[in-house]
Amino acid sequence: MTDPAAALAQMLGPKGWLSGEEAEPYRQDWLKRYGIAPLGVARPISTAQVAEIVTLCCDAGMNVVPQGGNTGLCGGAVVERAGGIILSLSRMAAIGEPDAASGSVVVDAGVILSALHDALAPHGLVFPMHLGAEGSARIGGLIGTNAGGSHALRHGMMQNLVLGLEVVLPDGSIWNGLRAVQKDNAGYQLRKLFCGAEGTLGVVTRAVLKLSPAPKQRATALLTLGDSAAAVAFGTYLRGEAGEFLTGLEFFCDFGLSLALKHLPGLSFPLESRGDVHVLVELTSSSTRVQLDDILASALEWGMERGLILDGALAMSDAQRAHFWRLREEQPEGQRLEGEQLKHDISVPVGRIAEFIDKGQALCQGILPGVRINPFGHLGDGNIHYNLSPPQGEADFAGKAPEIAQALAALATEMAGSFAAEHGLGRAKIVLADRNRSPVERDLMARLKHALDPLNTMNPGVIIANPSGKKNFPMNGIS
Ligand SMILES: Cc1cc2nc3c(=O)[nH]c(=O)nc-3n(C[C@H](O)[C@H](O)[C@H](O)COP(=O)(O)OP(=O)(O)OC[C@H]3O[C@@H](n4cnc5c(N)ncnc54)[C@H](O)[C@@H]3O)c2cc1C
Repeated sequence: MTDPAAALAQMLGPKGWLSGEEAEPYRQDWLKRYGIAPLGVARPISTAQVAEIVTLCCDAGMNVVPQGGNTGLCGGAVVERAGGIILSLSRMAAIGEPDAASGSVVVDAGVILSALHDALAPHGLVFPMHLGAEGSARIGGLIGTNAGGSHALRHGMMQNLVLGLEVVLPDGSIWNGLRAVQKDNAGYQLRKLFCGAEGTLGVVTRAVLKLSPAPKQRATALLTLGDSAAAVAFGTYLRGEAGEFLTGLEFFCDFGLSLALKHLPGLSFPLESRGDVHVLVELTSSSTRVQLDDILASALEWGMERGLILDGALAMSDAQRAHFWRLREEQPEGQRLEGEQLKHDISVPVGRIAEFIDKGQALCQGILPGVRINPFGHLGDGNIHYNLSPPQGEADFAGKAPEIAQALAALATEMAGSFAAEHGLGRAKIVLADRNRSPVERDLMARLKHALDPLNTMNPGVIIANPSGKKNFPMNGIS
C-alpha cells in the first residue's frame, strides 16, 4: 500500500495537507495540556473530500481527530496517539441563505459562530448560541461538544438548536439528514446522537440550524448580592416574573471579579458595593409591545426590598451592556492569567446551587486548605464552573487535582447533577467518567461506539478510553 500520508498529500494538495512546521498551530489544545505532533492536518473543502479522507484513514487504520476552532476545554480536538491526523473543517465555511419562514439556515461545519451571527444580522434573525469563545469556535465543534453557553436557559443547548445534520461516518459513508423541520420522528433521533459525541462517531460536515427572530429590545442589569443563596432566590422570583423573556442569568463571585479586574485592562466594576456574588440579568424580546425595563425594574425592587440585592445598575446603553457582559465573560481569562488552575464543569438542579457551592467549599478546603475557589457560570440552568486557584505559595496543587475532581464529581452526582455539564469529557475527564458512570451507562456508550466505529479510528481515547473494556465487544486495532 502507498504511504497514507503521501496519498493524503496528493489527494488534498498543498493547501489541503499541512505537515511539519505548518501543522504546529493545530497541535496543542486551548489549555495547552494535550496534543502530540499529528502526522499531518487535512483541510478538505467538501463533504466528498471528507469522505475520501476518512475512507483512506479507515483503510490504513489511521486515527482521525476532527478539529473546529480548537477552543474545547477537555483536550478532545488534538491527537494523542502517534500516527493520527487532524481533520480541520476550517475551509468548509459556507453559510446558506437563511429561510425566515421555517426559521432555519444550512451551514458548513467550519463556520465560526460569530461569523454566523454577523451574517444573520441583516436578515433580522439570530442563532441564539453565545459563549466566550464565539470568535473562534466553529459549528462542528459546538455540535461535537453539545455546547451550552449563556443563552441555554432560554434556547437550550446545541442539540436543541440543530434541526438536521450531514455526517461522514467512520467507514466513509455519508449520512444526509439535512432536514429543516421541527417534527421528525422517523425512528431514532440520530442528529442528537452526534451532538456531544466529540468526534468519536463521525465528522459533522453540514448542519441545519434553528433560528429565532432578532430581539428588538433588551433590558440588562448587573447586581451585587450577599451570597449564592440570595442569587438563587432572586433568580427563582425573576423567572416567574419575566417568563420567556429571561434570556441570560449569569453569576460570578467576588474573587473571580478581583482576578478579572487585576489582569484585564479596560475592565472596571460600575457598582459602589461588592457582595460575595454578582449577577448579570438579561431580558430580550422580539416584540416592541412589552416593557422589559419595567419588568426588570420591578423585579429588582422586589429583590432590594427583601435585602437579597445589595446594589445594582440597569445598562443605559449598548456600550454599558457590553461592559456588563465582559465582566462575566472575562472570568475564565482573569483566572487563567492568575496562573495555574483546576477547572470543574458541574451542573446541579438550580435550587441546589448554593448548597453545592457551600459543600464543595468544605470539601476542597479539607483536601487543600487555603485553596482559592472561583465559582461562576450559568445561574439560570444550574451550571457552575467551579474553578480553583492554588493557595498562595502551595507547591503540590496539581497533585491534589484527582482527589478534588473526584470529591466534586461525587458531590454533584449525589445531588442529582453532572460532573460534565457543557464542556464534554474529551481526554481530560474519561477517568472521572469511568468512576462516576454506572457500568450499564458505560457499556451502552461502548456498544454505540463499537456499532458505528468498530475499528476505533474516530478520535480514539475521547469519551471512552478503551471501548473494548467490555468483554462482549472486542475492538480491532486496540487492546
Ligand atoms: C473562553 C472560553 C469560553 C467558553 N465558554 C463556553 C461556554 O459558555 N459554554 C460551552 O459549552 N463551552 C464553552 N467553551 C468551550 C468551547 O468553546 C466549546 O466546547 C466549543 O463548542 C468548542 O468548539 P470548537 O469549534 O472550538 O471545537 P474544538 O475544540 O475544535 O472541538 C471540540 C470537540 O468537538 C469535536 N469536533 C470538532 N469539529 C467536529 C466536527 N466537524 N464533527 C465532529 N466532531 C467535531 C472535536 O474532535 C472535539 O472532540 C469555552 C471555551 C473558551 C476557551
